[in-house]
Amino acid sequence: MSHTAAEPLSAAASSKPPFDLTRLRGDFPVLERQVHGKALVYLDNAATSQTPQPVIDVFNDYYSRYNANIHRGLHTLADEATAAFEGTRESVRGFLNAPDARQVVFTRGTTEAINLVANSWGRANLAPGDEVLVSMLEHHSNIVPWQLLAREIGFTLRVIPVDDNGALDMAAYRTLLNERTRLVAVNHVSNAFGTVNPVADMAAAAHRAGALILVDGAQAVPHQPVDVQALDADFYAFSGHKVYGPTGVGVLYGKRELLEAMPPWQGGGEMIATVSFAGSTFAEVPHKFEAGTPAIAEVIALGRALEWVQSVGLAAIGQWEQTLLAHATSGLEEIDGMRILGTAPGKAGVLSFVVDGAHAQDIGLLIDQLGVAIRTGHHCAQPLLHHFGVEATCRASFAAYNTLEEVDTLIAALDRVIGMLR
Ligand code: PMP
Repeated sequence: MSHTAAEPLSAAASSKPPFDLTRLRGDFPVLERQVHGKALVYLDNAATSQTPQPVIDVFNDYYSRYNANIHRGLHTLADEATAAFEGTRESVRGFLNAPDARQVVFTRGTTEAINLVANSWGRANLAPGDEVLVSMLEHHSNIVPWQLLAREIGFTLRVIPVDDNGALDMAAYRTLLNERTRLVAVNHVSNAFGTVNPVADMAAAAHRAGALILVDGAQAVPHQPVDVQALDADFYAFSGHKVYGPTGVGVLYGKRELLEAMPPWQGGGEMIATVSFAGSTFAEVPHKFEAGTPAIAEVIALGRALEWVQSVGLAAIGQWEQTLLAHATSGLEEIDGMRILGTAPGKAGVLSFVVDGAHAQDIGLLIDQLGVAIRTGHHCAQPLLHHFGVEATCRASFAAYNTLEEVDTLIAALDRVIGMLR
C-alpha cells in the first residue's frame, strides 16, 4: 500500500504532510484509544513507536499458520518460517544498503548489538593502554558495556564533549583521536536531545586515525534514510520497536571482514558447524552470532515494518517530523520559564525541556491525565543531563502519524498543567 499523496513533496516548512496522513493513521489501531477519557496523543516515540496493523498481523499469521523452528527442519512449516525469517535479513540489507545480507546479525535490540561488539570484537582487540571514544550524548547502552569491559581489560574510555546546543564538539573529537584510539562508539541521533551527529565525517576521521566506528542508529533509522556504505560505518545497530516494528528484535550490521574475524560471544545451537567433546567449530557469519532459537515472529514482523516504513518513505517522514518539531518548538517558546535542551542545528524530532517552578515528573503525570503521553526522566542519558545541570527533562518525540493538532493539544495541556503546578 502506498501512502504517498498525488502532489509532489512540498518545502520542509510546509504544514501539509507529504503523505496521506489520515490514511496512514488508519494503520494504527492504538491511535483510536482514549486515555483517561481523552483521545490519546502519543508523543513518546523515541522510547517506542506504535505498531501498524500489517505488522501486528504478522503475529497472528505466523502463530496460526507456520509456527516452526527455523534452519533445522525439513518439513513445510520449518521451510516457510525459515524463508520468512531470512527474508527479513534481505529486507534489512536493502534498508541499510548493506552489501550482503550475511552482514546482518539479528539481536534482541540495539543494547544487545552493542554488547555483542563489546564482548566479541572488544575482548579480541582491546588491550591495556588502548582508548575507546564515546560521546557525551550517548545512551547508557553505549556507555555501560564499554565501562564493564574497560574494568576487565584496562583500556581507557574517553568522552567527546558537546557544546551548549548539545552538538558534538568536532574540534575536540579530532584532538581526542590518536594512535591509541581503537574504536569510536557514537549515536547517529541522540535520544535525549535529537542531535544528529555527523557520523560520515566522524567515520572518516576515525579511519584516518586507524580506529573503527560503531554507530548506534536506534534513533536514526525511524527518521531518515540510512546507507551504511555511504557512512562507511564499521558497525551499525538499531532496534525494531523504534521503527514501527516489535520489541525483542534488533540488528547489528558489520563489515564482513570484521564479523568474520570476530569470535562468537554466546555458545549454543545454531551457531556451530560441528560439536564434539574435543572441541567445536563455528558456523559462518551471521549464524555464528545467533546462538539459540531467535525471536522468529518478531524478526518476520520487523521485515514487515521496514516494508511499511519504506512504503511511506523515510525522507517524507523526516520532513513531516521537522514540520511538527518547528510547530512544537514555537509553541513551547511561548510558555513562561521554558528551557529547551538540545538546540543543535538540523536536529531530529525530539524536544527535551524543563520549566521553571514545575518538576518534569509532575508535568508528565498531569498531562497523562489529559491523554498526552510524553516521557519524563533522564532518558538513559544521565551524563548528558548532569552536564546540562538537570536530573530530568520532559521529552516529546514525533513519529510519522503525529499531527499538528496533536502538537496544539500538547502545548495547551502543558500550559494548563504548568499553571496548576506553579
Ligand atoms: N540507543 C539509543 C540512542 C536509544 O534511544 C535506545 C533506546 N532508548 C537504545 C540505544 C537502546 O535500545 P534498546 O532498549 O531497544 O536496546
